[in-house]
This record gives sequence, C-alpha cells and structure tokens, in this order.
Amino acid sequence: MSSLKDGFQRAIDYMRISITDRCNLRCIYCMPSEGIKPVEHKEILSYEELVRILKIAVNIGVKKIRITGGEPLMRRDVAHLIALIKNIAGIKDLSLTTNGVLLEQYAEELAKAGLSRVNVSLDSFKPDRYREITRGGDIDVVLNGLKAAEKAGLVPIKINMVPIRGLNDDEIGEFAKITLKAPYQVRFIEFMPFGIKDIKWPEKYISVDEIKSIVEGLGPLTPVKIRKSGPARYFRFDGAIGVIGFISPLSNHFCGECNRLRLTADGKLRPCLFSETEIDLKPALRGGAPDDEIERLIKLSIEVKPEGHNIRIQKDRNALYVMRNGLKENAHHGLRITHHNLRRPMSKIGG
Ligand code: SAM
Repeated sequence: MSSLKDGFQRAIDYMRISITDRCNLRCIYCMPSEGIKPVEHKEILSYEELVRILKIAVNIGVKKIRITGGEPLMRRDVAHLIALIKNIAGIKDLSLTTNGVLLEQYAEELAKAGLSRVNVSLDSFKPDRYREITRGGDIDVVLNGLKAAEKAGLVPIKINMVPIRGLNDDEIGEFAKITLKAPYQVRFIEFMPFGIKDIKWPEKYISVDEIKSIVEGLGPLTPVKIRKSGPARYFRFDGAIGVIGFISPLSNHFCGECNRLRLTADGKLRPCLFSETEIDLKPALRGGAPDDEIERLIKLSIEVKPEGHNIRIQKDRNALYVMRNGLKENAHHGLRITHHNLRRPMSKIGG
C-alpha cells in the first residue's frame, strides 16, 4: 500500500499516538507548575478504538507508529496494546517514547509484545538537577531503565535531551560523550515555545547551531547517514559507538519532510504539532460510523496538513524574536504568544 500524499506532495506514513495525558513526572518545561487538569477517563480512547483507527490508517498507507503520551507506560496493560498493534498487517515500525521511569519494570514485557525500540527523554545526569527538572524524579531509576531496555533488545535506544539555557546546557558535552562508549543515539532537540510560564522562552532557547558548536568543541564530527532518520541530522565522533543527532524544529524547520500525523489521547487527529487544527474522530467512532467514514476523516486530516509552521526565529543584535506570519513579536522582554496551541504544553498535545 503506497502512502497517501498531502496537498504538498508529502507521503504521510507515520502516526504518533498519545495513549494517555497522565504523567508520572512533572518536567518544568513540559508541564505548568499548577499541573494540568486530566482528561476524564471516559474521554480517552480505548485500546479497541485505537486499534480500529490504526487498522484504517494502515490501509491508507501509515506504516510507522510511535506510542507516546503523557507517559505511555502509565497506561494499564500497554504491552497488550503493543501486541494488538504489532498484529496489524502492514505496520513496519513500532516504537515508544518514554521518560524511562517504568522501563526497568516493563522493558522485557514490551519487547516480547513486539515493541521494536524506545526513545528515552532525559535532560540531566545530575541527580539533584534531574529531580529539579522533573519535579521529583530519580535519575537512578531511569538509568536502570536504560540498561533494562538494552538488555531486552529495544534498540537502538535514542536519548532525547532538550538543552535549556542556564538549566542543563552545561551538560551538552557530557551527553554527547556518552556516544563514545554506548551505542545510543543521543539527540539534542530545540526547546519549543509551548506556553510554560515558569521558563521564559526564548531567553532559555538554544539553537541547534549553538548546541552543535559546543559538541564540536569536544572533537570533530563526521556526518552519518541513517536510514529513515526523520528530522534528526546525525554525526559521530571519531571511534564512537553511538551517534549524535540534532533536531531543529525552530531554527531550521523540517516541515518539507514532515510525514506525520498525531493522535491525541482523546481521539483528535492533529496534522501539525504547531497548528490548532484538529479533527475529532471520537463522535464518529462512538456514534456508530462505518470504517469508510473514519477513513474519510483521516484523509481529511492529511488534506488539511499545513505546508509548514509559521514560527521563525530571528536574531537582531542580542535579541531573539519570533516571527509569526511575518509579524514581529518582541520576544526579548517577555514573549507574547497569542496562538492558542502554543499555550498548550507538550504533555497535553501528546509529544
Ligand atoms: N513521557 C514521555 C517522555 O517523557 O518522553 C512522552 C511524552 S513527552 C511530552 C515527549 C517529549 O516532549 C519529551 O522528550 C520532552 O522532552 C519533549 N518536550 C516537552 N515539552 C517540550 C518543549 N517545550 N520543547 C521541546 N521538547 C519538549
């Protein structure tokens, strides 16, 4: 089955599904300090509903699935869901993004159920700082989770780090150096403006260019071609076992190559992370609509996928500005983002 093309000739074959909006961490850049009102349980899609959507999506060309959240391992019996998805003919890649807290407990079960690999979000190796960033997390638990994932064969393990100025940017080098001895893909992702008041964006934002120049200060990097690398650009230190990836959703956006749709835990299809547009599948799912109506809605979300997001970062002397639709918003003295979507944290959208 060839993948469906959107209005800009991009083949859409990747779906990221959020299976819960709950999380067992409260990362300061991902969740507001006052917390988030959880979606009522009855609003969250059941595994049966999810599998129905995925079967239809696969029929029109989706081949790659990533499970995310909230924290996906918080959802009961996630291994069962993985086995159900794995059983859908036509899925070529099934992975999961996690904070790693429950990995030690579940890695083997997940691998047995058919999960291919995991991405682990980790922003500091320093126990106190990790606790501060996650509002209470224990780094040792995550490190044990990484070992368990490796042992269970959930590889290659990708470690996603979001460098934030003055918070963890002094650890960029240490994260990069892990690749000298461990077979990980350490990926640096730009901090995005998802409306967390406690951390001022863009003062805390660090571009991939800056991150890369810090890494290059440690030794020469050679570009590495990785098949299906997605938005990351990969490099390797001489003699390293692992690789280093850079993901620049803001400074050098990759919308032209975007092949994904997102499904929120409560059943809304989002064609673009940065766009407000959502297509709610739940009324059709729960209102007895036939599969071809669900298929029509999925196709519609592909049709309305925007060409790209309109957030541009401009540097003007020492100030950073955000450009939206060509209008300059003064970001230096407190950013005003009025776009509804950007006020929603990632944990709510489904990262
Ligand atoms: N709980 C899982 C985890 O921690 O990986 C999955 C959900 S979490 C929302 C997914 C990813 O979103 C994490 O890697 C996190 O670092 C990232 N994230 C959250 N807010 C972000 C922001 N403002 N900018 C960049 N990445 C962000």
